[in-house]
Formats: sequence, C-alpha cells, structure tokens
Amino acid sequence: MKIVMSDTINFKYRLEAATPRTGNGGITRGVSVNEFPISKNIAGVSMWLEPGAMRELHWHANAAEWAYVLKGKMRTTVVDPQGNTHIDLFSAGDVWYFPRGYGHVLQCVGEEQCHFILIFDNGNFSEDHTFSITDFISCVPPEIAAQNLGITTSEVAMLPRKEVYFAQGQVPSIRSGLAFPVNAPSLVSAHRYPLSAQQPRLVPGGGIQRVVTQAEFPIAATITGTLFEIEPGGLREMHWHPNADEWQYIIQGRAEIGLFLAQHNFAKDNFEAGDVGYIPMGAGHYIKNTGEEDLVILIAFNSGRYEAIDLSSWLSGNPDDLLEGNFGVPADIIDKFPRKDRFLIP
Ligand code: MN
Ligand code: MN
Repeated sequence: MKIVMSDTINFKYRLEAATPRTGNGGITRGVSVNEFPISKNIAGVSMWLEPGAMRELHWHANAAEWAYVLKGKMRTTVVDPQGNTHIDLFSAGDVWYFPRGYGHVLQCVGEEQCHFILIFDNGNFSEDHTFSITDFISCVPPEIAAQNLGITTSEVAMLPRKEVYFAQGQVPSIRSGLAFPVNAPSLVSAHRYPLSAQQPRLVPGGGIQRVVTQAEFPIAATITGTLFEIEPGGLREMHWHPNADEWQYIIQGRAEIGLFLAQHNFAKDNFEAGDVGYIPMGAGHYIKNTGEEDLVILIAFNSGRYEAIDLSSWLSGNPDDLLEGNFGVPADIIDKFPRKDRFLIP
C-alpha cells in the first residue's frame, strides 16, 4: 500500500510567519480552521502588547480562552455571570482560563513587551465571534448609550465610533487593580495557574513535562495544557489521545512530527519556533527533537482531562506469545521490546 505523504496532509501552519493584524500598541496573528483546515476544534493566536497597551474589554461567544504567557507582565480582569470581577497578574510561565462568554481584558503592565499564546476550544473561532465593548456601545442608538452610561448624547459622541480592539493605556501603578477590595483574600486565584512553577514529570535524558488539567485548575473545564522540554535527540514516543485533539506551538528548537491517520495515511514535517501543529483526536503521532538545543513545545487539548496511550505502555501490557504471533517474529526480537511505559525516550 502506498504511503500518503505530507504534501496531501497538511498539519503544519507557520503562524509567526503570517501577516499580522496590527493596531495601537498590539500585534496579533491568528490561525483557525479558515487558514488551517485540519484544525477543526482548536484555534490559536499569538499576540504582542506594548507596555501599557491592552486588548480591550471583550467576550467570545463561541469559545473559552486559555493562554500561556511567554514574556512580560500582564494584568487581566474577568467578570463572571454572578457579577464577580477577578483581577489577576501574570508573568512568563503562567496560564489563564476564561470560560466562554465571560467579559475580559488583557493589559501589558510591566516595562517590557508582553507576548502570549491564546488557545480557543473551537476551530471556528474568529473575530466575527468576538464582541468588543467599543463596538457594542458605538452600534446602539446614542440615546440608549447615554441612558445606559449616565452621560449626555454629546458626551456619547466623544466615545469611539467603532471597535478599538487594541488601546494604548498607561503602565499602571503596582497598586492599581490590586487595591480592589476583597472580602476573602486568597493567594489562590480562580483564573490563574502558575504552570512553570509546577514540579514536572522528569525522564532522565529525555526531558520534562508539565500538565495542567481541570484537576489542578478547576475552572479550566474544556482545555488541558502541557509544556514539554525535550532534550536533543529525544523522542516523545508514538502515542494517541483518546479524548481530545492536540494543538502544538513550538516555542524553541526544531522538531520532526509524524502523524498517522490510519489506512497507511502518514505525514511527517519539520517544525521550528513559531510553527503550529495539529493532531486530530485519536490519531497516532510522535515528536522528535531534531535540533541541537532543547525543544520547548506548548500543547493544548480540547478537554479538561489528559488522556494518552503510549505505544510502549500498550506493547508491554501484552503477553510475549501474543506479540510473537502478531508480528510474526521470534521471541528474541520481542524480548527487546519495551517492558514498561517509556513516554520520553532518550
Ligand atoms: Mn479574549
Ligand atoms: Mn500527543
């Protein structure tokens, strides 16, 4: 049977090479099913903000938002349907999650630029489903806006006439926002999870993995995140995920990723920093570090649970005589097969 190669199965999108949308203090590049047909269930965005700049108050009608901060310090506010507002501060390595429809804003509050990766649990995510506050207010009749905001119609005329999207604000005082009155102060925040502070799963010679599921981060009901650091030559072994699609963003290094879609359909491609990969639910795949430095890769799944079945785990659970029969090879070959889950193989 002929192997169908990667020129017909495209599962790589060069996100950071795409033409960005730019605005006042911000740069954004997005990838949805429109640009990348395989990505039916997850979409992503790479966004930069200048110090003080914000992605204005908005909500998403068709997707929850999960994010990983790569660079800089961020402040977010989010309002929930009970009317509670949560204000959080984020640094590199932190994760946020805003459920579908919750109103939120993102602002870069440090001295340096902010860079973060946004992930949405819907491949159809697009700006068409994003509702911005200035767009809403500028659409309604001025008398309605005046009555709602408690200002005159001539004051309404001073507000933006269309969606602002990015707005340049000031770098706030460190007390701004954190001075918000709270009845029950807590170091634990509903919307923030410090992923890079987590003790990782370590495989000597192979690398490390950090995972945040709904079990660690209760509000994140629909997205699980993983951060892999794979050593040069290391292999995240052949495996699949029974319950979720996989969205990949290469932060650093070089990788070969292989994708198996059954019936001898297979594709492999070479990835570098800024590239996005997509693995449909249940499809077999592997990730090999083909570069000279550590491969750092951010992965998101569209489920609050993490499930994976590794080839070595599967094989090591089966009797040797059965494997001899399945592969039609003698026992001395089967003896060399993995005897336990390998996960990351040096
Ligand atoms: Mn958003
Ligand atoms: Mn995987």
